[in-house]
Amino acid sequence: MNKNKKTINRKNFIKKAALSALTGASLLSCKPKSDSKERSIAIISQKKYKWKMVTTWPPNFPVLGEACNHFAQWVEEMTDGQISINVYGGGELIPALECFEAVSSGAVEIGSGASYYWAGRSPATQFFTTVPFGMNAQQMNSWLYCGGGQELWKELYAGYNLVPFPAGNTGVQMAGWFNKEINTIEDFKGLKMRIPGLGGKVLERAGGSAVLSAGSEIYTNLERGVIDATEWIGPYHDYNMGFHKIAKYYYTPGWHETGSTLEVFFNKPIFDSLEPRLQTILETAAYRMNTWTLAEFEAKNNEYLQKLIQIENVELRQFSSDVLIKLKDYTNEILTDITVKDAASAKIYKSYDAFRKNIKQWSSHSEKPYHNLL
Ligand code: CA
Repeated sequence: MNKNKKTINRKNFIKKAALSALTGASLLSCKPKSDSKERSIAIISQKKYKWKMVTTWPPNFPVLGEACNHFAQWVEEMTDGQISINVYGGGELIPALECFEAVSSGAVEIGSGASYYWAGRSPATQFFTTVPFGMNAQQMNSWLYCGGGQELWKELYAGYNLVPFPAGNTGVQMAGWFNKEINTIEDFKGLKMRIPGLGGKVLERAGGSAVLSAGSEIYTNLERGVIDATEWIGPYHDYNMGFHKIAKYYYTPGWHETGSTLEVFFNKPIFDSLEPRLQTILETAAYRMNTWTLAEFEAKNNEYLQKLIQIENVELRQFSSDVLIKLKDYTNEILTDITVKDAASAKIYKSYDAFRKNIKQWSSHSEKPYHNLL
């Protein structure tokens, strides 16, 4: 008999249950034992887990922070309380950009962020969020779930003691807020723009300068002319930042973030030590988070884009094909530089790029002609 499984009579069961409720010990599964005349109950005692989830998002940040709160709730419900998770916004327990390290070391069990935040540790992490002119949300999901992407992600993160899962997508972002028109690639020359990551490197090749600003400083920097332009996310978050009050033009599309995948990641030894049922529940909750996040972004972005255009009279502009083609050329140069220097990036980008090239053929015959009709 399993040492965790005991058969006791009903009187003892009630006594044990009361005791476990008092002591916080666990008691989650019981069933009548049919082959006994005396009514008895088998109890499987289960270990309870009280975990912390650190996130790169401000506390309760719309969509992204909310998704983490949902994740914790879903896991608690699905495990019937066996796993409970306290969610911490960036800075509440540790600084936002220390999540990777904290979970890697096992100081904290779960983290949430976007893998391109960790490009300083490995440039290859970026391919699991987005790269300029990269795949859209559904193509990213296809690559990650069905095209070998997630295996590569797990392999890369295993080197950091982490197990990652896709857990959300912003959809195509907006190109950002500008106080001057961008009609040709020359208009980027001398432009100071808050645009992180590879998008920033592309801007610099176009003659602009990429300025790093924390989320809380962007509005003031744009208002005071420290920066001339900024990208952020999409209409919902941008509206709440108030950029429409201080910038004239709102440009589309977000060529630099075409479907940014978010992540949850677990400390690997902790995740690996769990029974398969709990691992499946955690993975399933990540799937749900992935779906919910994109759905919420899409719904809210449309609602707030209409507010920006119809109530705030924002001028919506679109980059010309010439501008986008040039930005894409610069992107290809930068991606070549990265993959030449870093073997992990070369391996992952090979898979990413092959999948993108293939799926583009399907998209060009399905989504593209359909959208052209809308
Ligand atoms: Ca962004």
